[in-house]
Amino acid sequence: MPDTASMNKLSAVMSTYSRFPITVTKGKGSYMWDDVGEKYLDYTSGIATCNLGHCPDSVQLALHEQVDQLWHSSNLYHIPQQTQLAEKLTGVSCFDQAFFCNSGAEANEAAIKLAKKYTHDHQLSHKNQIVSFTSSFHGRTGTTMAATAQSKIHEGFAPLTPGFHYCEFNDQEAIEGIDYDTTIAVILELIQGEGGVRQANKEWVQTLVANCKKHNVLVIIDEIQTGMGRTGSMFAYEHYDIEPDIITLAKGLGSGIPVGAMLAKQHVSQSFQPGTHGSTFGGNPLAMTAGIATLNTLTAGHILANVVQLSSILFKELEKMKKSIDQIEEVRGLGFLIGIQFSHDVAPIVKKLRDKNILCLIAGPKVLRILPPLNTTEVEINVFVTALKNILTDQEDAS
Ligand SMILES: *Cc1c(COP(=O)(O)O)cnc(C)c1O
Repeated sequence: MPDTASMNKLSAVMSTYSRFPITVTKGKGSYMWDDVGEKYLDYTSGIATCNLGHCPDSVQLALHEQVDQLWHSSNLYHIPQQTQLAEKLTGVSCFDQAFFCNSGAEANEAAIKLAKKYTHDHQLSHKNQIVSFTSSFHGRTGTTMAATAQSKIHEGFAPLTPGFHYCEFNDQEAIEGIDYDTTIAVILELIQGEGGVRQANKEWVQTLVANCKKHNVLVIIDEIQTGMGRTGSMFAYEHYDIEPDIITLAKGLGSGIPVGAMLAKQHVSQSFQPGTHGSTFGGNPLAMTAGIATLNTLTAGHILANVVQLSSILFKELEKMKKSIDQIEEVRGLGFLIGIQFSHDVAPIVKKLRDKNILCLIAGPKVLRILPPLNTTEVEINVFVTALKNILTDQEDAS
């Protein structure tokens, strides 16, 4: 609990977050340390951002070298690291070109602008809406907040950016009801992160994509949380046998250095020409270096195989727990994007885990969200599983 003096003093930082009572000062691998030397197993990974753990050696080394060379030049000049990261990203995906920015919301802004520009360039001006889905999360800027189909995110910010049409996620009838002819694009997460770790049904997604292709509607997949290996493949769309027109990336791309990206197929990406879009910081040498080193590490080692193997162990343990513990209603997710749906508020469980030096997240009031670093170990998983089991069985005994 904060003491009375600090409660009465106005913080110089705006109060946009309700923070846990920990002051963090250091991180390495799966761990973070606070200002009094406590060590925490970080199963939030900075909200799916530090996918290689904190300060991974390979990225750290590359950044040190880049810090001595050049930090920023603006996009007035050629930046070799931008070309390199773009070639690497298009090399591991079905896309042809990349645009770089600084965050997830900016990547989605870029995607929405590109979709509108494509529609304009192809004389499809009767198209006037973008479809997004309930419980989604696409960011906090004006337009991405409007794209986010959650009223609690919209509250107090009228008038919203117009043009978004909201559809029920995973609902067959809802996608049959879309007026594709007037639709510019659909935007969705394949596993909704903030919205409760809800996975899109494969046939539903495939039907949606097929309908879109038929009517020249662009498919934008928001991979800001699911991308960069989080689900056990480099990108979540690979699990769905689809090829989106555009995907957006951020969180895991720079290992914690702010970097966002939009990848698109050539027929769409060509609608961006000099003057149509831009960013001062986007794609700067330091951020690109973090992206290159992160992607190199992800593709060189056995990290994705580690996610597949260890997440299956973790899922098995959680399913076992679900059988014996009534409060657990469902275990869901893919790879290391995992949600445990409880029958009650999970905030007390998050606190009890923190008391055992383990950091976890929520995704909605009743979902415990677990986001281990992709290179976590079986030993660390066991530490987490044992702690959670002890907390929940203590509670069962008490009730
Ligand atoms: C985090 C997130 C965003 C927003 O990213 P910012 O970097 O916070 O702007 C958008 N979409 C999804 C799916 C996210 O998880």
